[in-house]
Amino acid sequence: MKNALITGASRGIGASISRLFAEAGYNVFINYRSSDDAAKNLSEKIKASGYKAQTIRADVSDPDEVKRMFSIIAESCGGIDILVNNAGIAQTKLFTDITDDDWNKILACDLSSVFYCCREALPYMIRQKYGRIINISSMWGQVGGSCEVHYSAAKAGVMGLTKALAAEEGLSGITVNCIAPGVIRTDMLSGYSEEDLKALAEETPVGKLGTPEDIARTALFLAKEDSSFITGQVIGVNGGFVM
Ligand code: NAP
Repeated sequence: MKNALITGASRGIGASISRLFAEAGYNVFINYRSSDDAAKNLSEKIKASGYKAQTIRADVSDPDEVKRMFSIIAESCGGIDILVNNAGIAQTKLFTDITDDDWNKILACDLSSVFYCCREALPYMIRQKYGRIINISSMWGQVGGSCEVHYSAAKAGVMGLTKALAAEEGLSGITVNCIAPGVIRTDMLSGYSEEDLKALAEETPVGKLGTPEDIARTALFLAKEDSSFITGQVIGVNGGFVM
């Protein structure tokens, strides 16, 4: 049985990836930062359906917490075969209002976390000459989002990291890919009114917003053993919003 760690998996896209991966036969580690109840309920539901899951609380923007999380995983199963770097936060602000603290928080949570988790996951993957790393970026990292300069910069950084690491690890049997979601209905959109969401759906060529399951299915495809010829790619899952 392959072991998968999904960061930021108590809610939204990460929770959906955890459910789908568990149903596909992976042993899933559900990472989260503060939503204890949501993470535990998810894990209990997965286990009640006969699949394998375990929660790990850790702030992935903190390198020491990431080290601690990976030592728990090492004790439990040796290491992980699949890493999904999904944890992220967003903030909408005029560029001129972004403070140093805002900038550092977004960069730490949305970009440095990917570096920390890959750094801990890779030695085991390199030893076993197999691994799948899937990074969740954003279409705003591809085209730039107004009033989300720090978020867009972090998500563009995730794409650069993905490509460079894919080039470096190709011969180790490790693929590194990126998913760039469009507008997906999760708590991250809680600042938008129903009217804003309707307008965003109308702006999307397929005429609707995405669901966490749309992203989860793409992640599962990239995680498969026979997806070994796909690496260093940015896969847009955005209903045609960005082409
Ligand atoms: P969400 O519903 O707000 O969920 C975010 C998840 O990340 C939660 O489980 C949260 O855990 C966790 N998290 C946040 N900071 C963390 C940290 N420092 N350490 C560990 N866990 C942390 O967001 P989402 O919409 O599912 O987004 C998931 C990913 O997709 C993010 O990287 C986001 O940027 C990206 N994305 C989303 C959209 C969208 O439209 N929704 C579009 C493009 C890209 P706690 O609740 O426990 O804190």
